[in-house]
Amino acid sequence: MKPDPAEKELRERMRPGILAKDGFLGTDSRTIADIIEADVAEIEAAGLDTARIAELLEDLLLAAEEALETPRRLCGGAVTVRFIEGMGRIPCPFACGFRGRKGVVELTSPTLNLQFTALHAHLIRGHGFFQGRGAAFRLEPADAVALYRICRKPQQPDAPGTPSRDGATSP
Ligand SMILES: [Zn+2]
Repeated sequence: MKPDPAEKELRERMRPGILAKDGFLGTDSRTIADIIEADVAEIEAAGLDTARIAELLEDLLLAAEEALETPRRLCGGAVTVRFIEGMGRIPCPFACGFRGRKGVVELTSPTLNLQFTALHAHLIRGHGFFQGRGAAFRLEPADAVALYRICRKPQQPDAPGTPSRDGATSP
């Protein structure tokens, strides 16, 4: 594969201590395009898409933020979220101009424990990027799918055509 100057710059911005203390790539040596391709394929194999995952994360983030650091049960009581306030914003490493608030959502359920921020929702929606393997804040696509199954109604597995976004929200 030819060296890609854009990839080189992107990897540089994703290194620990540049935009985020822990960086975005962990120990992952794959190209960023390959990371994205594999993770998006995993989401799509589950019959979902990155927009739906991002929308769910945004909904959970807002609900957690409203509770002002008090643990809050969501998704019919199946998950508990707690918002940890953070100061400032982190620029998107893809240099698109987005700056994500630093507050972290800690989410727990009997089967899942994960953390995410506003930047996660943006990276997933805008770039299909769940972060590299071994990154402190990588969101495993399998966990994202599991969370979606907990919080949203199951999708029709073989629905023809473009999936619509309605019907994705539980009452
Ligand atoms: Zn971006």
